[in-house]
Amino acid sequence: MTSTIAIIGGGISGTLTVLNCIKQSKKPISIIWFDTHNNFCKGYAYSTIEERHLLNVRANNMSIFFDEPTHFTQWLNQHYPHYNPTDFVPRKIFGEYVNDIFENTKKTNQLVSITQLAEEVISIDKLDDGFELKTKNTYLVQKLVLAFGNFLPPHPRSISSDYIWSENYFQNAFHPSLTHKILNKNNITIIGSGLTMIDVVISLSKNKYKGLIHIISPHAYVPEVHHENAFPSVAPFIEEEKIYSLSEILSIVNKQLKTAKKQGLNPHSIIDVMRPYFQNIWVNFSIDEQHQFLRHLRHKWGVARHRAPMQSMIVFQELISNNKIGLIKGRVFDIKYSEKNFVIFFSNSQQSSQTLNTDLIINCTGPEADYTKIKMPLIQNLLKNQIITPNFIKYGINAQKDGQISQNVYTLGPPLKGVLWESTAVPEISAQAYKLAVNFICN
Ligand SMILES: Cc1cc2nc3c(=O)[nH]c(=O)nc-3n(C[C@H](O)[C@H](O)[C@H](O)COP(=O)(O)OP(=O)(O)OC[C@H]3O[C@@H](n4cnc5c(N)ncnc54)[C@H](O)[C@@H]3O)c2cc1C
Repeated sequence: MTSTIAIIGGGISGTLTVLNCIKQSKKPISIIWFDTHNNFCKGYAYSTIEERHLLNVRANNMSIFFDEPTHFTQWLNQHYPHYNPTDFVPRKIFGEYVNDIFENTKKTNQLVSITQLAEEVISIDKLDDGFELKTKNTYLVQKLVLAFGNFLPPHPRSISSDYIWSENYFQNAFHPSLTHKILNKNNITIIGSGLTMIDVVISLSKNKYKGLIHIISPHAYVPEVHHENAFPSVAPFIEEEKIYSLSEILSIVNKQLKTAKKQGLNPHSIIDVMRPYFQNIWVNFSIDEQHQFLRHLRHKWGVARHRAPMQSMIVFQELISNNKIGLIKGRVFDIKYSEKNFVIFFSNSQQSSQTLNTDLIINCTGPEADYTKIKMPLIQNLLKNQIITPNFIKYGINAQKDGQISQNVYTLGPPLKGVLWESTAVPEISAQAYKLAVNFICN
């Protein structure tokens, strides 16, 4: 009998699930694949058309197939031979790669049928023998894959939320009308200083924005640069099967940092060496240790882990040197909006209240991860129907580490952030999609 599977989300998580089903399935399956914005194969991260928005992972680690690690570099060699495997390629090209592979693979397994629907799933009800999904139409399926990805960031804290309705406030840093809006502004503010901020700065520079850019964040940490292998890496130091406590990990990392400094080794390689094991380390932390990590280490881990390519950081550093960017350490606690501009109130360890006037605000604070705060109809419905429950530490949803939520309900990618901590980059998603297809969907 043919089993029918609904995949909700057309981004990388959904696409890699579909592709692995095509590759692995030895029995008939029918996939109904939904994406609200008809953004199949690219999703949020790879829809950019800006050439200077680069991948922050080298090409040789960006294969979409877990069981074919050189798949992307081979494709690149065929289509864009001037790139090397260690280059940071434009995200636009990566989107083209995923789309190309899907188009060439979709009809290769007679047992798998795929129906793509540009429809928003708004509710799912459990039935005795499956699930009923509602968009503007109704569908009956046996299995569900929740691949709904990242959500827009929460609004910065403020006493009144009036400012969020202003046309000069952008909750989505990649909103198509942003480029047009900024051109006549003298003074704009980016709240948040991670990789999305770097993307925004690159777009502003490309569009010859002449005004002043304020960047404000609680620690004013900016992404570190990927070293061009100038220093050798530290030796492997994690034991695969061992259960580590948070304090053990901290003491090992401190020891490695000292060794790296003494022997002239690349300190970033400490994170790179830990990365493949970090999901396992995280899963074995107690909830209390996970909370402690969030309170004290989250930002530092983020800075060391989310590094930007040198070419991207050069643009940022040039604007800093020319006094076009002002980097402010501060926590925003209120935003007032008048017709002319915004006044941002913030505090830091030096002063309890300071103000900043600005013509436009771009929110780069990172995706909302607390599902109880997400207003989308499907999320509210899934919580109400107890098909999903918020993760204990309020990052994503509860599931097993292999992505199983309950019988016949699965997820992968960003919703597993609280369960695995590292669950948003392509190397992790490709492994999850492969295992979901092999373990649960195709057998
Ligand atoms: C700007 C940016 C740059 C990145 N760069 C890199 C990088 O260089 N290397 C790397 O490894 N990782 C990178 N990442 C991380 C990673 O690749 C992404 O997080 C990944 O794309 C997540 O894919 P996804 O499919 O889970 O989510 P998304 O891309 O967010 O896609 C989810 C899709 O689900 C759809 N959807 C949601 N709800 C519904 C519904 N109810 N009904 C129907 N459809 C729905 C949405 O419309 C959306 O298209 C980057 C992320 C971002 C944001």
